[in-house]
Amino acid sequence: MVRKEKSKVLSERFDELYPGGHSKFREPFDVTPHKVFIKRASGSRIWDIDDNEYVQFNDAFGPSILGHAHPVLAKGLVDLIENSATIVGSNCLFGEDDILFAEAIIRDVPCAEAVKVQVTGSEAVQMAIRMARAYTGKSVVVRFSDHYHGWFDNVFGGLLNDDSEALPYQKEGDNLTDDHWTSGRFPGCIEESYVLPWNDFEKLEETFDKHHDQIAMIHFEAMVCNTLGLYPKPGFLEKIRALCDQYNVVMSIDEVITGYRLGLSGAQGFFGITPDIATFAKAIGGGIPVSCVVGKKKFFEPFDNGLKGPGTFNGFALGMRAAAVTLSILGQENGKCYEERQTVQDHITGGLLTIAEKYEIPLRITEAPGVFFTLFGIAGGKKPVYTVQEAIDGGWNPKLFIAFRKYMQNEGIIMLPGERWYLDIAHTMDDAEWVLEAAEISMKQLAD
Ligand code: PLP
Repeated sequence: MVRKEKSKVLSERFDELYPGGHSKFREPFDVTPHKVFIKRASGSRIWDIDDNEYVQFNDAFGPSILGHAHPVLAKGLVDLIENSATIVGSNCLFGEDDILFAEAIIRDVPCAEAVKVQVTGSEAVQMAIRMARAYTGKSVVVRFSDHYHGWFDNVFGGLLNDDSEALPYQKEGDNLTDDHWTSGRFPGCIEESYVLPWNDFEKLEETFDKHHDQIAMIHFEAMVCNTLGLYPKPGFLEKIRALCDQYNVVMSIDEVITGYRLGLSGAQGFFGITPDIATFAKAIGGGIPVSCVVGKKKFFEPFDNGLKGPGTFNGFALGMRAAAVTLSILGQENGKCYEERQTVQDHITGGLLTIAEKYEIPLRITEAPGVFFTLFGIAGGKKPVYTVQEAIDGGWNPKLFIAFRKYMQNEGIIMLPGERWYLDIAHTMDDAEWVLEAAEISMKQLAD
């Protein structure tokens, strides 16, 4: 059972000082009545200010793919701070790290022939949209419900629009009208996108057939890590590829989560599909914010002809150092660290299913390397899920996971909301054993 006194006091103070939270959308507010304030972290372990030790499976929402305080990354960053004239790149000072990072990502990622850097994932998505518009001369973006591409007005959540001519599916009850995600948006921004149901071949094809003269790009996560790890149905990614080729639409995979998590080649390598461009963030910086768009060279040609993508911190030296070092660590021996991580992941996922069976709790695990989802209420062991409706029809019960996560945190296991677990290359078999011991206690509580 964790102690909470100091975190509780700071938590109350924080709420007064930061009315909007830092990234409140993602806060695991239902786990504990207070936030956890961290004192120290190392590898997969973190210690809070009440001196509780945890093993974390949230990887700071994705970036800490090396675990915390990786000694090589830490040294690289400290060297830079102590010896560099400035930590800002901003198009006037460059470093060798710029070259090392770009060469690494071009080596690893199938679609990458050139790179444009930003700082956050949200910015990389905006840059990708602008690049696609500049390249095609068209303006509409096709996206999918249940996906997330950052907090900017034009991509946050779905759409609500009365113009059924321009937005063909908004009135059909596909839960596409989720503008409850935020107030305060400029109304016109919602007309930039067509939002389609994920894995719906028919609507995809119909939209491209009818509106291809307006569509500049399609942007999506190949595995929907923001919602239950929904897989693409067999042939769905290939269908997108074929329609993009047919109609001169830029195919863009959002690798902000999957990039360097699923492996060196990201979701595009894992699913064997090469997009035109892709957005990366989170893991590429190993914990320091850095993001980019990569893609085939021809999609970068508009930069010679009026396209702009400025930013004071684009290419800032700390970010480029972090990215160069992180990719070099991950790339050692052709990504051997990912194989070792998979052994830990298999031990955890296999163990969780065994414990669930013992307590007669239906549990489905859907996974890719470095990320898995525990869907309580659905039987079936390890198997992909393709749509939210399929999960609901199968008996998925999010309340069970919320209770489980709370019990697990009391046993020292920190997870993400949304049934999601991340593994990084610092996780060990000891961590796996700790998880399974905690799961034994937590599932027993769940069953009682
Ligand atoms: N794209 C995806 C798939 C994401 O999951 C996120 C953030 O979680 C973003 C884009 C936005 O990234 P950031 O939060 O760094 O702006």
